[in-house]
Amino acid sequence: MASRSLRARELRGAIVEACRWLVAAGLVQGTSGNVSMRWKKRMLITPSGVPYERMTPEDVVEVPLEGDGSVFEARGGNVPSSEWRFHFDILRARPEVGAVVHTHSPYATAFAICRKELVAAHYMIAAAGGPTIRVADYATFGTQALSDAALAALEGRAACLLANHGVIATGPTLERALWLAQEVEVLARQYAIALQLGHPVILEEEEILRVVEKFKGYGPRKG
Ligand code: 13P
Ligand code: ZN
Repeated sequence: MASRSLRARELRGAIVEACRWLVAAGLVQGTSGNVSMRWKKRMLITPSGVPYERMTPEDVVEVPLEGDGSVFEARGGNVPSSEWRFHFDILRARPEVGAVVHTHSPYATAFAICRKELVAAHYMIAAAGGPTIRVADYATFGTQALSDAALAALEGRAACLLANHGVIATGPTLERALWLAQEVEVLARQYAIALQLGHPVILEEEEILRVVEKFKGYGPRKG
């Protein structure tokens, strides 16, 4: 299958680059985790079980978002990530999402193993859209049940934890989803250290909602 356009080729390259960055940042290892992007009415997604060091832009799989996900275009025996269901369901249910990143990053996953949601120990939790980052109920990897649980935990949020599994971070762009995946790991690490030191002070929900609003105007002025 030939890439449909220069733009699609660029996006495939960006996905592979994102994977290498996730490995370098320590957020994924081996074949754990996966990345998808919206491209027109299609999903571009990492192939299942291909080690990141060996992954090339041609390995990225295309799945039409209009079908039921069973039809896909791939090269060389590749199939879409085993987690294509939650990538597909998120991209379909959340029009503001342009990219989905799934990791098994260690600190955030440790909280997911203990079934402890992340709370407002640091104001940066507002980056995920609210005062908590919830833990989706456990379901076997790659199942529709996991996708359903993830979508419920993502309600009103850009990120969630997956019980005994890992993290999902989303964003309007791939860059933003990658940034949030790293931010979730940093929040989990800070909170884990604070719990060891003593009794973390948790910020009020009202304050986090204020920060969510403030973030909307944060950063360099455009133009
Ligand atoms: P894939 O290699 O199929 O993307 O699976 C990795 C993973 O993290 C499953 O949850
Ligand atoms: Zn996983």
